[in-house]
Amino acid sequence: MSDKKVRVRFAPSPTGGLHLGGVRTVLFNYLFAKKHKGDFILRIEDTDQNRYVEGAETYILDCLQWCGLIPDESPVVSGPFAPYRQSERKAIYREYAERLVMQGHAYYAFDTPEELEQNRKEIPNFQYGQVYRMGLRNSLSLTEHEVDQLLDAKTPHVIRIKMPADERVSFNDMIRGHVSFETNQVDDKVLLKADGMPTYHLAVVVDDYLMKISHAFRGEEWLPSAPVHLLLWEYLGWKADMPQWAHLPLILKPDGHGKLSKRDGARLGFPVYAMNWFDARTGELTPGFRELGFLPEAFLNLLATLGWNDGTDQEIFTLDELIEKFSLERVSKAGAKFDFEKAKWFNAEWIKKVKGERLKEKVKTILEDKGISVADEDYLLKVINKVKDRCVLLPDFYQQAAYFFEQPKEYDINSVKPKWTDAKTEFFNLLVDKLSAEKAWDAAGLEITFKALAEDKAIKVGELMLPLRIMLVGGKFGPHVFDIAELIGKVETIKRIQKALELFNS
Ligand code: GLU
Repeated sequence: MSDKKVRVRFAPSPTGGLHLGGVRTVLFNYLFAKKHKGDFILRIEDTDQNRYVEGAETYILDCLQWCGLIPDESPVVSGPFAPYRQSERKAIYREYAERLVMQGHAYYAFDTPEELEQNRKEIPNFQYGQVYRMGLRNSLSLTEHEVDQLLDAKTPHVIRIKMPADERVSFNDMIRGHVSFETNQVDDKVLLKADGMPTYHLAVVVDDYLMKISHAFRGEEWLPSAPVHLLLWEYLGWKADMPQWAHLPLILKPDGHGKLSKRDGARLGFPVYAMNWFDARTGELTPGFRELGFLPEAFLNLLATLGWNDGTDQEIFTLDELIEKFSLERVSKAGAKFDFEKAKWFNAEWIKKVKGERLKEKVKTILEDKGISVADEDYLLKVINKVKDRCVLLPDFYQQAAYFFEQPKEYDINSVKPKWTDAKTEFFNLLVDKLSAEKAWDAAGLEITFKALAEDKAIKVGELMLPLRIMLVGGKFGPHVFDIAELIGKVETIKRIQKALELFNS
């Protein structure tokens, strides 16, 4: 690598929610920057006013915040290359577009949208480019005098790149290796629009240059734009400063056929956005990983493994480990299939891995939202530590923890009733007496008491454990039943046994 300071950027257009592919682009940029002690920049590419969506920029910032991928420079924290919002840089771009016109690499085009529409209708596969450009209204086809007149009359116009004929342009992609394009295949893209705003193509090149970007990593869908950008870097005389590019592989549908879309998420019942995205124009809510109950650690971990591995079997990585181990050489060219079951596995692993303390606030909110008040935080922590290995998504904490705070609302009586006997009733009545007399209240002691009584009454322990569990929990789940009894305490345990006995015998 050259000794140029590493500066990477994530350059989203604020057009809606952030797809998980977008967050993976952020992550790979971030990992690369941090690994090389470089800067990670967030630049908002909002030059397309028609596609601008209110709230999308804030949403992007919130996503980065949630994931803990905080930019070193952005519209919020600013930096030496401000502004970081392209709409606020509007005045910068015209000069470069005009320079390209002067050099003969770009030209003014005066065609109205209606004229272009007409051409598209009449000519199959119409492209504004080598084949048709001389028949259209632009500074290549018109005389100098006509052009001056049109410009003087402030006739609305755009500036287009003049794609050269019969050339091959190429670059070395850090993931794909040598990539080349025929210029004949590419149309004369608009660089500067009639409203004076640059298009993405011009703005991305100018800003990557002015912001001293050393590496540009973006999704594979931007590969077709590369020839235009390559020529702009060359024509503007900046070729030596061009960032090293890497086009990241697509994230594919679970069956591997095509790019994973928002629609696939809705169809298959899983999120594809980082966080809930509410579209105020359509009233549509697109669900997000965060709200479904993913930990950001798990979300990043699963994204990292979509297209990358460290060459070993290791799958669980902290962000610091990722920074240490990440390398673009190990990012695959092929698309990565998204597997929601695997995504949930990552979350379950991360819930196991993080300290209970890390989950306290989240679980408290989950319980309180369901009307369970949590007064004692130490108790909450003990409960979390007991049940966290059983939770896949954060809302699972409700089912797994609620009965530590209140009596079961429902009992799985059907699991008990068919095998219920008077002898068992007698056993539990006696157990209540024994428990009332119990001095120390700990799981091990309770288990001994319970088993001794069972032996005394000649009932198999196995026949009594499930009823006890249903009495305390309501269902056939949860950690070791005596651990539950220890935590909920003597009074509550006895109360629950007595209440359930009434139910079982009614
Ligand atoms: N503004 C483009 C986007 O929305 C950025 C592509 C790039 O990184 O060059 O993704």
